[in-house]
Amino acid sequence: MEQADLSRYWKSSPKLLIGLGEEWKLPKKTENHQEQAAQKRQLCRAYEILYELIKDKDYFIITMATDGMIYDTPLGSRQETVISERCQEKGLSSCEGISEEMIKRMDRVFPKRQEKPDTRWERIVAPCGNETWRQCERACTKDIWEPGEIPDDICPHCHAPLVGNTIEAPIYIEEGYLPQWNRYTRWLAETLNQETLILELGTGFDNPGVIRFPFEKAVFFNQKAHMWRVNEKFSQIPQELKGRAEGIKKNSVSWIMGRS
Ligand SMILES: [Zn+2]
Repeated sequence: MEQADLSRYWKSSPKLLIGLGEEWKLPKKTENHQEQAAQKRQLCRAYEILYELIKDKDYFIITMATDGMIYDTPLGSRQETVISERCQEKGLSSCEGISEEMIKRMDRVFPKRQEKPDTRWERIVAPCGNETWRQCERACTKDIWEPGEIPDDICPHCHAPLVGNTIEAPIYIEEGYLPQWNRYTRWLAETLNQETLILELGTGFDNPGVIRFPFEKAVFFNQKAHMWRVNEKFSQIPQELKGRAEGIKKNSVSWIMGRS
């Protein structure tokens, strides 16, 4: 697969699946605050550019980052929706072979259900959690609190300290991401046998069961899927996906920034 194919598939694929891996995680806190602030700014900018690139697509993002930064960028709005081709295509095109008169009559009898478009926030799933959300360290309750909701950061039920709702919690309360995970699997099921472009950005082997292996499987089983794997260290493509997957040996954050 040639590099030029990417823009072709970008245009022709109605579905776009994006995985954000280790390269999109903010490095652990360092003493050098200036350096960290610069890294944060760079990532923010990369999210903004990514949003501009995908905003008109029917996309879904799965991220391994747990810093919650993506929700503070244009990608994570809880109010605004995504203009998706899926919504625009609803209507006559789905009723091939039926006369217009018949459609009008059917519309009178069965008024079209107003489908609420997804907000941008609803197109992201973070299965490794979100450290800005708080959970009880002992997991005495499945409650999850939003930032600032419990000012003293102490569990109101058992008085244990609260910790971030991520896989690093002693007992990870997965209810935090499961509703979005269900949304994601429903969306993924719709891609079966549809032209789907998969962009796997910076995903290595920290938790390959979250993005890397499932994406390989998705390309393998959907003959109409094509994947680009952008990674500074691990851009290799398994033999059985050759011809439908391409590796780009570059840092994926810089690669996205180069697309603006
Ligand atoms: Zn508790």
